[in-house]
Amino acid sequence: MNVSNDHIVSIAYKLTDAKSGELLDQSQDEHPLSYLHGHSQIVEGLEKELSGKETGHKATVEISPEEGYGQRDEERIIAVPKDRFSEEPEVGQVVQASADHGVMRLKVVKVEGDEITLDANHPLAGTTLKFEYEIVDVRPATEQELSHGHAHCGGGGCGSCGGH
Ligand code: ZN
Repeated sequence: MNVSNDHIVSIAYKLTDAKSGELLDQSQDEHPLSYLHGHSQIVEGLEKELSGKETGHKATVEISPEEGYGQRDEERIIAVPKDRFSEEPEVGQVVQASADHGVMRLKVVKVEGDEITLDANHPLAGTTLKFEYEIVDVRPATEQELSHGHAHCGGGGCGSCGGH
């Protein structure tokens, strides 16, 4: 079957930083990543790449930051007063803040005086992604999956896929 909108696609993949070669993420052997195609659940560049491909197709593709996690935006680095935190955060720690559309994850990049500097960029912003993938399975989404907007695994209910 070919990958098209409203299908559940399962892929085995390995994600590395195209420049440094650093391993960023990979699917576990018995647990491919399953997602609902055409609903922006994976990065744009990979969704485009997979469209129309068949079960069993294997390839390696590089995806620019524009079609990946975006470019780094220096305006997303913000300083807030330390007294906004109940405990002083440490550099490298990830803190959560509520935003208009859900929860934002911010990385603490500097603690100086009474000020905490936070970076709201996605950790992979600015990174060219290299995906080695194999399409393991393609099937039409069930009505329940379509109404929920995500994949259910092995006929299970919500959350049956774990992760992602
Ligand atoms: Zn569900």
